[in-house]
Parts: sequence; structure tokens; C-alpha cells
Amino acid sequence: MDPRTPSGVPNEAAFASLGWKQLLAARLQYYRDLGIYDFYRRDAISAVAEAPSGATECSPARPGSPARRVLGALGLGSAGYQSVKEIVPLGTAEMKTAVVAPEDLFATPKPEAGVADHAKALRLIQEDLGECTRCVLSRLGRKTVVFGEGDPNAELMFVGEGPGADEDEQGRPFVGRAGQLLNKMIEAMGLKREQVYIANVVKCRPPGNRTPESEEIETCSPFLLRQIAVIQPKAIVALGAVAARCLLGLNEPMAKLRGRWFDFRGTYLAVTYHPAFLLRDPRQKKETWKDLQMVMEYLGLKPRRAPE
Ligand code: URA
Repeated sequence: MDPRTPSGVPNEAAFASLGWKQLLAARLQYYRDLGIYDFYRRDAISAVAEAPSGATECSPARPGSPARRVLGALGLGSAGYQSVKEIVPLGTAEMKTAVVAPEDLFATPKPEAGVADHAKALRLIQEDLGECTRCVLSRLGRKTVVFGEGDPNAELMFVGEGPGADEDEQGRPFVGRAGQLLNKMIEAMGLKREQVYIANVVKCRPPGNRTPESEEIETCSPFLLRQIAVIQPKAIVALGAVAARCLLGLNEPMAKLRGRWFDFRGTYLAVTYHPAFLLRDPRQKKETWKDLQMVMEYLGLKPRRAPE
């Protein structure tokens, strides 16, 4: 199938059915037809070179795959990369790069585009999400689509993994036992829950609270990215490995991800343990509190006592 329409515009459905070599050839042909022959290397290539293999990601092609490497180097839209630079913590000289979900060159404008009022823009995203049936989670017993909640202008945003049974029942994120612990963490930071924004990587409960599958994450996470883009928080805290992997494209163990800053599309991002994990292993609360103190320092929040 010719991946272009008669007008020469790339046909997304046809592109989706191609292997990476054909995809690359078709894209190059498309650019040649437009009279574009020269491509400039971006620093994206170095991001790819350093990307760990097997990362869970928010985008279709695997990091480090030949398609991503070549197309990323050429800066070709949906297969391209954005680099994420780790923000150097005080006293550390090392700088690393990782991979995040690329923008889609052929995406249609989002309903919230150009809407300055954050609350309104979030409502438009929620309407767009609707009673979502985009992935299998909609057919695996979910009751509610849990969009997220909080201050649309929040300086701090928490991102979890996905709703559990309580969240599915109530349609609100983090309202079960893990949510109660998250509330304590937020309060220990000197904030009220209503002052932050809380969302998840996937908006529907995975059956039996299993970890969301990569296809589910790929389908759902664009909505999270849109929420982040609207809210423009000063800092994001990724709760647990699933959120960290989705947002950073890194497959490192938690011990390597926490305790430092990452740059997520210009926003400070810290990773810490998921409250559900802390319920199982309370010894890690001390480490989590260190992470939260790092966030507090950046946000100018006063030092407090650790949450219980
Ligand atoms: N765990 C999550 O990751 N998110 C929730 O909303 C609740 C529990």
C-alpha cells in the first residue's frame, strides 16, 4: 500500500502497516518529493545511543530500535526523539540523557490547543477521553475512567500507575489505602491535596490491579502528557517505576532513578517509591521522605517532619 494519499500527504494507516525499512524509505521519498534531501543530525542521536534497552515507553517504536535510531537522527516527526537531560543534583558533575515519547508530526490539533484557562483545557481533554474504549482495559471490568483531579494550576503534580478498586469505584485517583498514604506525604510537604494535581499513567483499572501492559500505556499516556502540558507544573513526582518508565523511557531500577532530578520536557521531574510499595515495605519511607524534601526545597516549601 502506498503510504501516501494522492495529494502526497502521508497516510497514517498505511504507514502503520509498514516495517521500519519501508517506513523510512517512504518517509525519505516523501521528503524527496518535497525537494528535501539534506537532514541534519540532532543531539537526539546521542540520546538514542545511551538509551537502555527494553524500556517501557509511551511511543510505538522501541528505544534503540533501528527505526527509532535512524528516524530519530533524521528528526522525522513521530519516530523522532526528544532528549531528556538529567538535571544535575547539587555537587554532581555527571549529565545523562534519556528518551521520552516523541510528538506526532501528523497529529491533528488537540481540542485544548490555545485554551489559556487550565481548568477549561483539562475539561476538554476529559471530554476527548470520554468513556474511553481505546484499549482493552475498557473491556476488562473497569467501571470508571479515572481522569485525575486537583488544582489545574498546581505547581506540583503526582503521577501514579493506574486506578485500583477504590479509585475505579469512586472515579478519583488515589482514594484507597495508597491514596491515604499519599495524602499524608502531601500534607507532610506542607500542602493540601487540593493544591496539587494527581493523575495516573492509565486511566482505567487493570484487572486484579496488575501492572498496565505497554500497549495500554502507549494508548493512554498521551492523555497524561496533555494534562501535564496544560497544567505546566513546576515539578512532577513520578510514583513508582511504571510512571517513571512511561515519562522518562528509562528502564533503570528505582534505586537508580530516585534521589535526583530529571528534565521532563522542561519540567523538573523526580521519581520516588509508589505509596502502595511503601505500605508493603515501610522501611523505604525514609528514602521517600528524602525525595520529597528535595522537591520541597525546589518548590520553596518549608522543612517539615517526616510522614508516619
Ligand atoms: N495506585 C495508583 O497508581 N493510582 C491510583 O490512583 C491508586 C493507586
